[in-house]
Amino acid sequence: MPETTSVPFSEKYRRIATEEAWAPQELLDIYRDLYESRQLDDPGFDSLWGFYGTSDAPRPATVRRKLADLDDERLADMDAAGIDFAILALTSPGVQVLDRDTAVALARDSNDMLSEAVTRHPDRYAALCAIAPQAPELAAKEMERCKALGFKGIINNSHTHGEYLSDQKFWPIFEAAEAMDLPIYLHPNTPPKSMIEPMLEVGLDGAIFGFGVETGLHMLSIITSGVFDQFPRLQMIIGHMGEALPYWSYRLDFMHNAQVSSKRYENLQPLQKKVSDYLKENVYITCSGMAWEPAVRFAQQTLGVDRVMYAMDYPYQYVKQEVLDMDNMDIPDVDKKMFYQGVAEKVFKL
Ligand code: MN
Repeated sequence: MPETTSVPFSEKYRRIATEEAWAPQELLDIYRDLYESRQLDDPGFDSLWGFYGTSDAPRPATVRRKLADLDDERLADMDAAGIDFAILALTSPGVQVLDRDTAVALARDSNDMLSEAVTRHPDRYAALCAIAPQAPELAAKEMERCKALGFKGIINNSHTHGEYLSDQKFWPIFEAAEAMDLPIYLHPNTPPKSMIEPMLEVGLDGAIFGFGVETGLHMLSIITSGVFDQFPRLQMIIGHMGEALPYWSYRLDFMHNAQVSSKRYENLQPLQKKVSDYLKENVYITCSGMAWEPAVRFAQQTLGVDRVMYAMDYPYQYVKQEVLDMDNMDIPDVDKKMFYQGVAEKVFKL
């Protein structure tokens, strides 16, 4: 198939891309140093950033350059793909692989840089606030600072040193997000050391499969740990068509009920609602990396048209043809406008 040269802007809707990655060059340099020194004991990080951070093959080299750009190249790429507006977020794993103090400082610095880019291009960008979950109380403070700067939500790149937000020590982050009405985008990270070995052995640890397994587990464990019973107004976002959770939701409901009622696990306790209810009431999903009509339609059918939105996953998956494929979906115009524009405007308050 020949590469699509360019996609015109639509007259029917604003195309808002909601999972678009960036990274300051300083952070990319830190990733390279961390990989070369092998000091993290994190085989997933070494697999991902050993590739994207050091390979001179065309794709990783291009991704590195585009990640660090917040001006001409990114805007030209958006123009060429007919993307009106992008929600920008610090790429995975963000500052979450760093030590606590470095992570806190670098989250703040990167938020300042992103805020300046939004100020330069307010009609093209909005931003998600990067946090260091290593310090939950300071993360809540940074969220407050970001909210005042006009940020539209929070980015969390899944696990932090193998720890998950279902652990109550992280719940000050949820409490603050709910109080400030900021949605949290739960973006993939590479699986932690405790999970990744069988995936590495077959080369399936990355975005092809490992990311979805890891992040789906993370989102599900946030639900089953009772986060949304504690913080019922909290809203979260997951990409990649919901990291497979919508497709699993019938079985999640059946087996959660079966295991809770038989008291099989001490840490799997009753919830106020069904697992699938939380997916419909507290979770938005995006089509990042999954511009595939049957999956979009299935998600709209099961979660609701008001829960599913567009994302490109730039610069990792900059495929202009996918925009045309989404335009050409056989769904009503009013639903397509919700998908590209309406849902994002609502969840990010654009
Ligand atoms: Mn992504």
